[in-house]
Amino acid sequence: MLALALLACSAPEPVATALPASAPGVVLTATTNGAAITVQGAIRGDQHVDIDAPTDAREGFRYQILNGAGDVLYERSTNGPILVDAFLDYWGAEAGLDVLQALPTLGRFQVTVPLLEGGERVRFQIRNPDQTYADAGSYDLSRIDADELGLYEGVLDFETLHGSGPSSNRLDIAIIGDGFTSDEMGDFRRKADRLAEELLGRAPFAGLAGLIDIHRVDVASNESGASFDCPSCGVRDTAFGSIFPVEAINRLSGLSYDSRAIFQTEQWDVARAVSVVPWDFVIVLVNTDRPAGMAIHYATATTDWNGFAEAGVHELGHTVGLLGDEYATDFCILDDRLGLPPNITDDGANPPWMHWVDPGTPLPTPSTSDYRGIVGAFAPAYNCADLYRPQRSCAMNAGHEFCPVCTEQLVRRILQHADPIDGIDFEGGKAVPHGPIDDVVLEWSRNGKVFRTSYGLEPVRVGSRPFEVRARLDTPDVRVGTEDLEQVWRFE
Ligand SMILES: [Zn+2]
Repeated sequence: MLALALLACSAPEPVATALPASAPGVVLTATTNGAAITVQGAIRGDQHVDIDAPTDAREGFRYQILNGAGDVLYERSTNGPILVDAFLDYWGAEAGLDVLQALPTLGRFQVTVPLLEGGERVRFQIRNPDQTYADAGSYDLSRIDADELGLYEGVLDFETLHGSGPSSNRLDIAIIGDGFTSDEMGDFRRKADRLAEELLGRAPFAGLAGLIDIHRVDVASNESGASFDCPSCGVRDTAFGSIFPVEAINRLSGLSYDSRAIFQTEQWDVARAVSVVPWDFVIVLVNTDRPAGMAIHYATATTDWNGFAEAGVHELGHTVGLLGDEYATDFCILDDRLGLPPNITDDGANPPWMHWVDPGTPLPTPSTSDYRGIVGAFAPAYNCADLYRPQRSCAMNAGHEFCPVCTEQLVRRILQHADPIDGIDFEGGKAVPHGPIDDVVLEWSRNGKVFRTSYGLEPVRVGSRPFEVRARLDTPDVRVGTEDLEQVWRFE
Protein backbone atom coordinates (compact mmCIF):
# COMPACT_ATOMS: atom_id res chain seq x y z
CA MET A 1 0.00 0.00 0.00
CA LEU A 2 1.46 3.27 -1.04
CA ALA A 3 1.10 6.18 1.23
CA LEU A 4 1.36 9.85 0.47
CA ALA A 5 3.10 12.19 2.83
CA LEU A 6 2.98 15.93 3.07
CA LEU A 7 5.65 18.11 4.48
CA ALA A 8 6.03 21.73 5.27
CA CYS A 9 9.04 23.26 3.55
CA SER A 10 10.07 26.51 1.99
CA ALA A 11 11.19 25.79 -1.54
CA PRO A 12 9.20 23.26 -3.63
CA GLU A 13 5.53 22.99 -2.76
CA PRO A 14 4.32 19.52 -1.88
CA VAL A 15 1.22 18.30 -3.67
CA ALA A 16 -1.86 18.64 -1.53
CA THR A 17 -3.25 15.24 -0.62
CA ALA A 18 -6.39 14.30 1.26
CA LEU A 19 -4.62 13.11 4.38
CA PRO A 20 -1.53 14.31 6.24
CA ALA A 21 1.39 12.03 7.22
CA SER A 22 0.44 12.32 10.86
CA ALA A 23 -2.52 13.78 12.73
CA PRO A 24 -3.17 14.68 16.36
CA GLY A 25 -5.16 12.02 18.16
CA VAL A 26 -7.67 11.80 20.97
CA VAL A 27 -8.06 8.85 23.32
CA LEU A 28 -11.64 7.61 23.61
CA THR A 29 -12.58 5.59 26.67
CA ALA A 30 -15.15 2.94 25.80
CA THR A 31 -16.90 -0.17 27.04
CA THR A 32 -17.78 -3.33 25.17
CA ASN A 33 -20.31 -5.90 26.31
CA GLY A 34 -19.22 -8.21 23.51
CA ALA A 35 -21.63 -6.83 20.89
CA ALA A 36 -22.04 -3.10 21.33
CA ILE A 37 -19.39 -0.48 22.00
CA THR A 38 -20.19 2.76 23.78
CA VAL A 39 -17.88 5.72 24.42
CA GLN A 40 -17.99 7.32 27.86
CA GLY A 41 -15.19 9.85 27.70
CA ALA A 42 -12.30 11.44 25.85
CA ILE A 43 -8.75 12.33 26.80
CA ARG A 44 -6.83 14.99 24.95
CA GLY A 45 -3.13 14.37 25.44
CA ASP A 46 -0.15 14.71 23.16
CA GLN A 47 -1.26 11.92 20.85
CA HIS A 48 -0.32 11.39 17.21
CA VAL A 49 -1.60 8.90 14.66
CA ASP A 50 0.57 7.90 11.69
CA ILE A 51 -2.00 8.43 8.97
CA ASP A 52 0.02 7.27 5.96
CA ALA A 53 0.68 3.88 7.55
CA PRO A 54 -0.31 0.82 5.53
CA THR A 55 -3.80 -0.54 6.15
CA ASP A 56 -4.27 -3.37 8.59
CA ALA A 57 -7.53 -5.13 7.90
CA ARG A 58 -7.20 -8.41 9.66
CA GLU A 59 -7.95 -7.77 13.31
CA GLY A 60 -11.17 -8.37 15.21
CA PHE A 61 -12.07 -4.75 15.89
CA ARG A 62 -11.78 -1.63 13.81
CA TYR A 63 -12.74 2.01 13.82
CA GLN A 64 -13.53 4.23 10.88
CA ILE A 65 -13.42 8.03 10.77
CA LEU A 66 -16.37 9.34 8.74
CA ASN A 67 -16.98 12.76 7.28
CA GLY A 68 -20.38 14.49 7.31
CA ALA A 69 -21.46 12.62 4.18
CA GLY A 70 -20.63 9.29 5.80
CA ASP A 71 -17.53 8.62 3.67
CA VAL A 72 -14.71 6.71 5.33
CA LEU A 73 -11.68 9.02 5.60
CA TYR A 74 -9.49 6.61 7.50
CA GLU A 75 -9.72 3.28 9.27
CA ARG A 76 -7.58 1.18 11.51
CA SER A 77 -7.96 -2.15 13.23
CA THR A 78 -6.73 -3.84 16.36
CA ASN A 79 -7.67 -6.85 18.44
CA GLY A 80 -8.00 -5.64 22.07
CA PRO A 81 -11.76 -5.52 22.70
CA ILE A 82 -12.31 -8.85 20.93
CA LEU A 83 -9.35 -10.45 22.66
CA VAL A 84 -10.76 -9.64 26.09
CA ASP A 85 -14.21 -10.80 25.02
CA ALA A 86 -12.82 -14.12 23.72
CA PHE A 87 -10.84 -14.56 26.95
CA LEU A 88 -13.87 -13.85 29.15
CA ASP A 89 -16.15 -16.04 27.01
CA TYR A 90 -13.76 -18.92 27.51
CA TRP A 91 -13.49 -18.41 31.25
CA GLY A 92 -17.19 -17.71 31.58
CA ALA A 93 -17.93 -21.07 29.99
CA GLU A 94 -15.40 -22.79 32.28
CA ALA A 95 -16.83 -21.13 35.38
CA GLY A 96 -20.48 -21.24 34.33
CA LEU A 97 -21.05 -17.49 34.65
CA ASP A 98 -21.21 -14.41 32.46
CA VAL A 99 -18.02 -12.69 33.57
CA LEU A 100 -18.78 -9.40 31.82
CA GLN A 101 -22.12 -9.32 33.58
CA ALA A 102 -20.46 -10.03 36.93
CA LEU A 103 -17.53 -7.65 36.37
CA PRO A 104 -18.62 -5.16 33.66
CA THR A 105 -15.54 -2.96 34.18
CA LEU A 106 -13.51 -5.72 32.51
CA GLY A 107 -15.15 -4.62 29.23
CA ARG A 108 -13.52 -1.20 29.43
CA PHE A 109 -10.89 -0.24 26.89
CA GLN A 110 -9.42 2.77 25.18
CA VAL A 111 -8.78 3.59 21.56
CA THR A 112 -6.83 6.48 20.08
CA VAL A 113 -8.39 7.97 16.96
CA PRO A 114 -6.99 10.72 14.71
CA LEU A 115 -8.59 14.15 14.51
CA LEU A 116 -8.80 14.69 10.76
CA GLU A 117 -10.04 17.71 8.90
CA GLY A 118 -13.65 16.93 8.02
CA GLY A 119 -13.79 13.91 10.35
CA GLU A 120 -17.10 14.08 12.24
CA ARG A 121 -17.89 10.62 13.53
CA VAL A 122 -16.15 7.43 14.62
CA ARG A 123 -17.78 4.16 13.69
CA PHE A 124 -16.84 1.00 15.61
CA GLN A 125 -17.06 -2.39 14.00
CA ILE A 126 -16.55 -5.92 15.25
CA ARG A 127 -15.52 -8.65 12.85
CA ASN A 128 -17.93 -11.52 12.36
CA PRO A 129 -16.75 -15.13 12.30
CA ASP A 130 -17.07 -14.97 8.47
CA GLN A 131 -14.58 -12.05 8.48
CA THR A 132 -17.09 -9.37 7.48
CA TYR A 133 -17.49 -6.42 9.85
CA ALA A 134 -20.67 -5.48 11.69
CA ASP A 135 -21.39 -2.02 13.12
CA ALA A 136 -21.10 -1.95 16.91
CA GLY A 137 -21.68 1.70 17.73
CA SER A 138 -20.46 5.16 16.89
CA TYR A 139 -19.33 8.39 18.49
CA ASP A 140 -19.87 11.98 17.47
CA LEU A 141 -16.47 13.70 17.59
CA SER A 142 -18.09 17.08 18.34
CA ARG A 143 -18.71 15.71 21.86
CA ILE A 144 -15.01 15.45 22.75
CA ASP A 145 -14.85 18.69 24.71
CA ALA A 146 -18.00 17.90 26.68
CA ASP A 147 -16.77 14.37 27.37
CA GLU A 148 -13.22 15.36 28.30
CA LEU A 149 -12.05 13.36 31.33
CA GLY A 150 -8.79 15.22 31.91
CA LEU A 151 -5.48 13.76 32.94
CA TYR A 152 -5.03 11.57 36.02
CA GLU A 153 -4.43 13.72 39.10
CA GLY A 154 -2.05 11.28 40.77
CA VAL A 155 0.87 11.49 38.35
CA LEU A 156 3.92 12.33 40.49
CA ASP A 157 6.44 12.77 37.69
CA PHE A 158 7.31 11.63 34.19
CA GLU A 159 10.49 11.36 32.20
CA THR A 160 11.59 10.41 28.70
CA LEU A 161 14.00 7.51 29.13
CA HIS A 162 14.85 7.25 25.45
CA GLY A 163 14.06 10.16 23.18
CA SER A 164 14.97 10.20 19.53
CA GLY A 165 12.82 12.90 18.02
CA PRO A 166 9.34 14.30 17.42
CA SER A 167 6.65 11.96 18.71
CA SER A 168 4.54 12.78 15.64
CA ASN A 169 6.93 10.48 13.78
CA ARG A 170 7.94 8.01 16.50
CA LEU A 171 6.60 4.87 18.05
CA ASP A 172 6.02 6.01 21.64
CA ILE A 173 6.02 3.50 24.49
CA ALA A 174 4.92 4.54 27.98
CA ILE A 175 6.01 2.54 31.05
CA ILE A 176 3.80 2.99 34.12
CA GLY A 177 3.68 1.19 37.44
CA ASP A 178 0.88 -0.24 39.58
CA GLY A 179 1.10 -1.54 43.13
CA PHE A 180 4.17 0.55 43.93
CA THR A 181 3.68 2.71 47.02
CA SER A 182 5.32 6.15 47.21
CA ASP A 183 8.15 4.53 49.22
CA GLU A 184 8.68 2.09 46.34
CA MET A 185 8.97 4.63 43.48
CA GLY A 186 12.76 4.22 43.38
CA ASP A 187 12.28 0.52 42.73
CA PHE A 188 9.74 1.27 39.99
CA ARG A 189 12.16 3.67 38.27
CA ARG A 190 14.95 1.08 38.34
CA LYS A 191 12.61 -1.52 36.87
CA ALA A 192 11.50 0.89 34.14
CA ASP A 193 15.14 1.61 33.25
CA ARG A 194 15.86 -2.12 33.16
CA LEU A 195 12.94 -2.82 30.82
CA ALA A 196 13.86 0.04 28.46
CA GLU A 197 17.43 -1.26 28.34
CA GLU A 198 16.24 -4.80 27.60
CA LEU A 199 13.90 -3.67 24.83
CA LEU A 200 16.40 -1.40 23.11
CA GLY A 201 19.04 -4.12 23.28
CA ARG A 202 16.88 -6.59 21.43
CA ALA A 203 16.41 -6.97 17.67
CA PRO A 204 14.54 -5.55 15.86
CA PHE A 205 13.99 -2.73 18.41
CA ALA A 206 17.76 -2.15 18.73
CA GLY A 207 18.27 -1.38 15.03
CA LEU A 208 15.14 0.78 14.94
CA ALA A 209 15.84 2.60 18.24
CA GLY A 210 15.89 5.88 16.31
CA LEU A 211 12.20 5.37 15.49
CA ILE A 212 11.23 4.73 19.12
CA ASP A 213 10.67 6.96 22.15
CA ILE A 214 10.23 5.49 25.65
CA HIS A 215 8.66 7.43 28.50
CA ARG A 216 8.22 6.61 32.21
CA VAL A 217 5.20 7.83 34.18
CA ASP A 218 5.22 7.68 38.00
CA VAL A 219 2.02 6.98 39.93
CA ALA A 220 1.99 5.74 43.53
CA SER A 221 -0.51 3.21 44.89
CA ASN A 222 -1.91 3.01 48.40
CA GLU A 223 -0.95 -0.66 48.65
CA SER A 224 1.80 -2.87 47.26
CA GLY A 225 1.03 -5.79 44.97
CA ALA A 226 -1.98 -6.79 42.89
CA SER A 227 -5.40 -8.17 43.75
CA PHE A 228 -5.43 -11.96 44.31
CA ASP A 229 -1.66 -12.24 43.81
CA CYS A 230 -1.53 -15.23 46.15
CA PRO A 231 -4.12 -17.93 46.87
CA SER A 232 -5.05 -16.39 50.23
CA CYS A 233 -4.71 -12.73 49.13
CA GLY A 234 -7.68 -10.51 48.48
CA VAL A 235 -8.37 -7.23 46.73
CA ARG A 236 -5.61 -4.66 47.03
CA ASP A 237 -5.99 -0.91 46.77
CA THR A 238 -3.72 -0.05 43.84
CA ALA A 239 -3.92 2.90 41.47
CA PHE A 240 -5.10 0.93 38.42
CA GLY A 241 -6.66 -2.15 39.99
CA SER A 242 -4.23 -4.74 38.63
CA ILE A 243 -5.85 -8.10 39.17
CA PHE A 244 -5.23 -11.79 38.51
CA PRO A 245 -8.59 -12.36 36.76
CA VAL A 246 -8.52 -16.15 36.75
CA GLU A 247 -7.88 -16.09 40.48
CA ALA A 248 -10.90 -13.76 40.79
CA ILE A 249 -12.98 -16.20 38.73
CA ASN A 250 -11.79 -19.03 41.02
CA ARG A 251 -13.15 -17.09 44.00
CA LEU A 252 -16.49 -16.48 42.25
CA SER A 253 -16.90 -20.05 41.06
CA GLY A 254 -14.97 -22.24 43.47
CA LEU A 255 -12.59 -23.41 40.71
CA SER A 256 -8.83 -23.62 41.19
CA TYR A 257 -7.15 -22.81 37.89
CA ASP A 258 -3.63 -21.47 37.79
CA SER A 259 -2.87 -18.70 35.32
CA ARG A 260 -0.30 -16.00 34.70
CA ALA A 261 -2.99 -13.69 33.31
CA ILE A 262 -3.06 -10.21 34.82
CA PHE A 263 -4.63 -6.92 33.80
CA GLN A 264 -6.07 -3.67 35.07
CA THR A 265 -9.71 -3.05 36.00
CA GLU A 266 -9.11 0.71 35.76
CA GLN A 267 -8.21 0.76 32.06
CA TRP A 268 -9.36 4.34 31.61
CA ASP A 269 -7.28 5.66 34.49
CA VAL A 270 -4.18 4.10 32.94
CA ALA A 271 -4.97 6.05 29.74
CA ARG A 272 -5.57 9.27 31.71
CA ALA A 273 -2.23 8.81 33.50
CA VAL A 274 0.00 7.91 30.54
CA SER A 275 -1.52 10.74 28.49
CA VAL A 276 0.86 13.13 30.26
CA VAL A 277 3.30 11.83 27.62
CA PRO A 278 2.74 10.85 23.97
CA TRP A 279 2.03 7.12 23.70
CA ASP A 280 1.15 4.49 21.15
CA PHE A 281 1.69 1.53 23.49
CA VAL A 282 1.70 1.12 27.26
CA ILE A 283 3.32 -1.43 29.50
CA VAL A 284 2.16 -1.59 33.11
CA LEU A 285 4.75 -2.91 35.55
CA VAL A 286 3.02 -4.48 38.55
CA ASN A 287 4.86 -4.77 41.85
CA THR A 288 4.33 -8.39 42.85
CA ASP A 289 6.55 -11.45 43.05
CA ARG A 290 3.99 -13.66 41.37
CA PRO A 291 5.44 -14.18 37.85
CA ALA A 292 2.83 -13.03 35.34
CA GLY A 293 2.32 -11.20 32.12
CA MET A 294 -0.50 -10.47 29.73
CA ALA A 295 -1.26 -8.20 26.83
CA ILE A 296 -4.71 -6.97 25.86
CA HIS A 297 -5.16 -3.21 25.63
CA TYR A 298 -1.90 -2.71 27.49
CA ALA A 299 1.03 -5.00 28.04
CA THR A 300 1.48 -5.99 31.70
CA ALA A 301 4.41 -7.65 33.45
CA THR A 302 4.98 -8.28 37.11
CA THR A 303 8.36 -7.12 38.36
CA ASP A 304 9.54 -8.85 41.51
CA TRP A 305 11.17 -11.88 39.88
CA ASN A 306 14.22 -12.53 37.72
CA GLY A 307 12.62 -12.87 34.30
CA PHE A 308 10.55 -9.71 34.43
CA ALA A 309 12.36 -7.67 31.74
CA GLU A 310 12.30 -10.60 29.32
CA ALA A 311 8.60 -11.06 30.07
CA GLY A 312 8.03 -7.34 29.44
CA VAL A 313 9.59 -7.57 25.97
CA HIS A 314 7.48 -10.67 25.25
CA GLU A 315 4.31 -8.84 26.28
CA LEU A 316 5.24 -5.86 24.10
CA GLY A 317 5.65 -8.40 21.29
CA HIS A 318 1.91 -9.06 21.71
CA THR A 319 0.80 -5.43 21.63
CA VAL A 320 3.37 -3.82 19.30
CA GLY A 321 3.51 -6.83 16.95
CA LEU A 322 0.04 -8.32 17.49
CA LEU A 323 1.96 -11.59 17.83
CA GLY A 324 0.60 -14.75 19.42
CA ASP A 325 2.19 -16.98 22.05
CA GLU A 326 4.30 -19.68 20.45
CA TYR A 327 4.14 -21.96 23.48
CA ALA A 328 1.46 -24.32 24.74
CA THR A 329 1.40 -24.15 28.50
CA ASP A 330 -1.87 -22.25 28.99
CA PHE A 331 -5.40 -22.65 27.68
CA CYS A 332 -6.27 -22.97 23.96
CA ILE A 333 -8.58 -19.99 23.37
CA LEU A 334 -9.65 -19.56 19.75
CA ASP A 335 -12.20 -17.17 18.33
CA ASP A 336 -13.18 -16.91 14.67
CA ARG A 337 -13.64 -13.14 15.02
CA LEU A 338 -9.96 -12.80 15.92
CA GLY A 339 -8.45 -15.20 13.45
CA LEU A 340 -4.85 -16.28 14.06
CA PRO A 341 -1.89 -13.98 14.70
CA PRO A 342 0.67 -13.61 11.87
CA ASN A 343 3.15 -15.96 13.58
CA ILE A 344 0.61 -18.76 14.08
CA THR A 345 -0.97 -21.06 11.51
CA ASP A 346 -3.26 -24.06 11.28
CA ASP A 347 -1.66 -25.04 7.97
CA GLY A 348 1.61 -26.72 8.88
CA ALA A 349 2.20 -27.84 5.27
CA ASN A 350 1.97 -24.36 3.79
CA PRO A 351 2.49 -21.69 6.44
CA PRO A 352 1.94 -18.03 5.52
CA TRP A 353 5.65 -17.43 6.19
CA MET A 354 6.85 -19.73 3.36
CA HIS A 355 9.19 -16.93 2.23
CA TRP A 356 11.30 -17.68 5.32
CA VAL A 357 11.34 -21.48 4.82
CA ASP A 358 14.39 -22.91 3.03
CA PRO A 359 13.73 -25.55 0.35
CA GLY A 360 14.22 -28.99 1.81
CA THR A 361 12.83 -28.13 5.24
CA PRO A 362 10.10 -30.67 6.00
CA LEU A 363 6.64 -29.20 6.62
CA PRO A 364 5.28 -29.58 9.23
CA THR A 365 8.72 -29.64 10.83
CA PRO A 366 9.78 -32.21 13.45
CA SER A 367 10.61 -30.53 16.75
CA THR A 368 14.07 -32.07 17.04
CA SER A 369 17.44 -30.41 17.59
CA ASP A 370 18.24 -30.96 13.86
CA TYR A 371 15.84 -28.09 13.16
CA ARG A 372 17.04 -25.74 15.84
CA GLY A 373 17.25 -22.14 14.57
CA ILE A 374 15.48 -23.05 11.32
CA VAL A 375 12.18 -21.60 10.14
CA GLY A 376 9.57 -24.25 9.47
CA ALA A 377 6.21 -25.07 11.06
CA PHE A 378 6.43 -26.54 14.56
CA ALA A 379 3.56 -27.78 16.72
CA PRO A 380 2.25 -26.89 19.22
CA ALA A 381 1.62 -23.16 19.35
CA TYR A 382 -0.82 -20.55 20.65
CA ASN A 383 -1.58 -22.92 23.53
CA CYS A 384 -3.17 -25.33 21.03
CA ALA A 385 -1.84 -28.78 20.13
CA ASP A 386 -2.79 -28.56 16.43
CA LEU A 387 -1.41 -25.11 15.61
CA TYR A 388 2.07 -24.28 14.32
CA ARG A 389 4.77 -21.71 15.09
CA PRO A 390 7.64 -20.63 12.82
CA GLN A 391 10.66 -21.67 14.86
CA ARG A 392 11.41 -23.95 17.79
CA SER A 393 12.64 -21.02 19.87
CA CYS A 394 11.45 -17.42 19.85
CA ALA A 395 10.86 -14.60 22.32
CA MET A 396 7.15 -15.31 21.83
CA ASN A 397 7.97 -18.74 23.25
CA ALA A 398 10.58 -19.15 25.98
CA GLY A 399 13.53 -17.97 23.85
CA HIS A 400 15.48 -14.75 24.02
CA GLU A 401 15.52 -13.60 20.36
CA PHE A 402 12.48 -13.02 18.18
CA CYS A 403 12.31 -15.50 15.28
CA PRO A 404 12.51 -14.11 11.70
CA VAL A 405 8.72 -14.24 11.24
CA CYS A 406 8.04 -12.30 14.43
CA THR A 407 10.88 -9.90 13.63
CA GLU A 408 9.40 -9.17 10.19
CA GLN A 409 6.00 -8.47 11.72
CA LEU A 410 7.47 -6.23 14.44
CA VAL A 411 9.33 -4.15 11.84
CA ARG A 412 6.13 -3.72 9.83
CA ARG A 413 4.20 -2.67 12.89
CA ILE A 414 6.84 -0.22 14.09
CA LEU A 415 6.66 1.34 10.61
CA GLN A 416 2.90 1.73 11.10
CA HIS A 417 3.72 4.28 13.79
CA ALA A 418 6.79 5.98 12.39
CA ASP A 419 7.97 6.76 8.88
CA PRO A 420 11.53 6.10 7.66
CA ILE A 421 12.42 9.79 7.28
CA ASP A 422 11.14 12.87 9.11
CA GLY A 423 11.30 15.16 6.10
CA ILE A 424 13.29 16.71 3.29
CA ASP A 425 14.91 20.13 3.44
CA PHE A 426 16.26 22.08 0.50
CA GLU A 427 19.63 23.80 0.52
CA GLY A 428 20.95 25.37 -2.66
CA GLY A 429 19.92 23.00 -5.43
CA LYS A 430 20.06 20.02 -3.15
CA ALA A 431 17.42 18.03 -1.31
CA VAL A 432 18.56 16.97 2.15
CA PRO A 433 16.59 14.13 3.73
CA HIS A 434 16.59 14.09 7.53
CA GLY A 435 15.30 11.48 9.87
CA PRO A 436 15.67 9.05 12.69
CA ILE A 437 17.80 6.34 11.10
CA ASP A 438 20.36 5.95 8.37
CA ASP A 439 19.09 2.62 7.00
CA VAL A 440 17.00 4.12 4.21
CA VAL A 441 16.95 3.90 0.44
CA LEU A 442 15.58 6.88 -1.46
CA GLU A 443 14.45 6.60 -5.04
CA TRP A 444 14.21 9.95 -6.81
CA SER A 445 12.05 10.15 -9.93
CA ARG A 446 10.56 12.59 -12.36
CA ASN A 447 7.66 11.79 -14.68
CA GLY A 448 7.82 8.19 -13.55
CA LYS A 449 11.52 7.77 -14.36
CA VAL A 450 14.04 7.16 -11.59
CA PHE A 451 16.97 9.57 -11.94
CA ARG A 452 18.81 8.68 -8.76
CA THR A 453 18.86 6.08 -6.01
CA SER A 454 20.52 7.27 -2.81
CA TYR A 455 21.35 5.50 0.43
CA GLY A 456 21.24 6.95 3.89
CA LEU A 457 20.61 10.63 4.41
CA GLU A 458 22.95 12.04 1.77
CA PRO A 459 22.02 15.30 -0.02
CA VAL A 460 20.87 14.85 -3.63
CA ARG A 461 20.95 17.44 -6.41
CA VAL A 462 17.36 17.55 -7.68
CA GLY A 463 17.43 20.02 -10.58
CA SER A 464 14.05 21.06 -11.92
CA ARG A 465 10.65 20.21 -10.49
CA PRO A 466 8.34 18.37 -10.19
CA PHE A 467 9.82 15.25 -8.70
CA GLU A 468 8.91 12.43 -6.38
CA VAL A 469 10.89 10.73 -3.62
CA ARG A 470 10.19 7.22 -2.46
CA ALA A 471 11.83 6.56 0.92
CA ARG A 472 12.02 2.99 2.15
CA LEU A 473 13.46 1.38 5.25
CA ASP A 474 16.45 -0.68 4.08
CA THR A 475 16.27 -3.91 6.06
CA PRO A 476 16.85 -7.62 5.45
CA ASP A 477 14.23 -8.31 8.15
CA VAL A 478 11.30 -7.84 5.78
CA ARG A 479 11.13 -10.10 2.73
CA VAL A 480 7.63 -9.57 1.35
CA GLY A 481 5.45 -6.50 1.14
CA THR A 482 8.40 -4.11 1.42
CA GLU A 483 6.14 -1.43 -0.08
CA ASP A 484 4.59 -1.28 3.41
CA LEU A 485 7.87 0.23 4.58
CA GLU A 486 7.66 3.06 2.06
CA GLN A 487 6.70 6.65 2.24
CA VAL A 488 6.18 8.80 -0.87
CA TRP A 489 6.91 12.52 -1.03
CA ARG A 490 5.91 14.60 -4.05
CA PHE A 491 7.15 18.07 -4.87
CA GLU A 492 5.90 20.47 -7.48
ZN1 LIG B 1 8.29 -16.01 16.71
